[in-house]
Amino acid sequence: MESTIKKIGVFTSGGDSPGMNAAIRSVVRTCAFHQIACVGIYRGYEGMIEGDFIDLGPRDVNNIINKGGTFLKSARSKEFRTPEGRKKAHDHLVGAGIDALVVIGGDGSFTGAQIFNQEYGFPVVGIPGTIDNDIYGTTSTLGFDTALNTVVDAIDKIRDTASSHNRLFFVEVMGRDVGHIALNAGVGSGAEEILIPEENLGIDRLLESLDKSKNSGKSSSIVIVAEGDKTGKNIFELKDYVEQHRPQYDIRVSVLGHMQRGGSPSCFDRVLACRMGVKAVETLLSGESGYMVGIRDNKLNLTPLDKAIKGHTKIDKELIRVSDIMST
Ligand code: ATP
Repeated sequence: MESTIKKIGVFTSGGDSPGMNAAIRSVVRTCAFHQIACVGIYRGYEGMIEGDFIDLGPRDVNNIINKGGTFLKSARSKEFRTPEGRKKAHDHLVGAGIDALVVIGGDGSFTGAQIFNQEYGFPVVGIPGTIDNDIYGTTSTLGFDTALNTVVDAIDKIRDTASSHNRLFFVEVMGRDVGHIALNAGVGSGAEEILIPEENLGIDRLLESLDKSKNSGKSSSIVIVAEGDKTGKNIFELKDYVEQHRPQYDIRVSVLGHMQRGGSPSCFDRVLACRMGVKAVETLLSGESGYMVGIRDNKLNLTPLDKAIKGHTKIDKELIRVSDIMST
């Protein structure tokens, strides 16, 4: 593959997600395979502005495919939002001989990359790394599958105690704007009700559903609540409301929090990271830029960065129906 690109910089930016290390490894090894150099940029755009770089060869990324987080660290950079900050970053990249970038992150990171690409004509390709699965152009983002497995595992454990004490548990999972984690993990863990930001069914429907569940002989229940659900109440207020209206319930709340972002990536996320890393580097080497690598129907694809940034993912309506049927 003949290309003018001789050195690629790779970095992770925004919130970390499991699979980022595997993606860095893939980028580094794909560069080595095509006999071009690879440089790791520490702490996202912060490290780019400071010139905090490290040369990476294939042996420097041994034993990281199974590690959560990102060994290059991630950060949020206010300075990169300014033309002055981006100029410093550009000077450091040019000084280090870096002539293209692979950014692993969410839509904010892609926005920064897109602006940088337009300002300096600097070739960039993005890999979607976020547990929320909220990026348009891909049915899976890196870390989503691992987060689902983590949540399902936690809910299985909560269910043990729920059923031992005939309790109702409200479990909060991540998802301020999208309910992908809540819906998928809810179906996978057999939750009785799932509250997501995309659907506002109202609190009364929750009460009805709990009544139905009790009348059908269930003695314990799990309700999954996405952070951004639209009942207008946080999970503790929701608990108080249900206790007020259904005093027979013994309700407990569990907020899963940051544990959802950590842990060793699942096999699915590792394989996805390997595939996306290869595609990102080879896209740059073929002379294309300004795209995000995604996956659909198990085929890798490219989406223009501006579409990936502006587009919205849709919740799977079929899964909502399946969830309703499963709670019969
Ligand atoms: P997450 O999904 O976890 O929030 P993200 O990639 O969306 O990940 P952000 O904090 O939104 O995370 O963005 C990461 C970084 O991208 C910001 O700290 C900033 O440096 C850069 N960035 C975001 N928006 C812009 C912008 N409009 N102009 C320049 N840089 C930006």
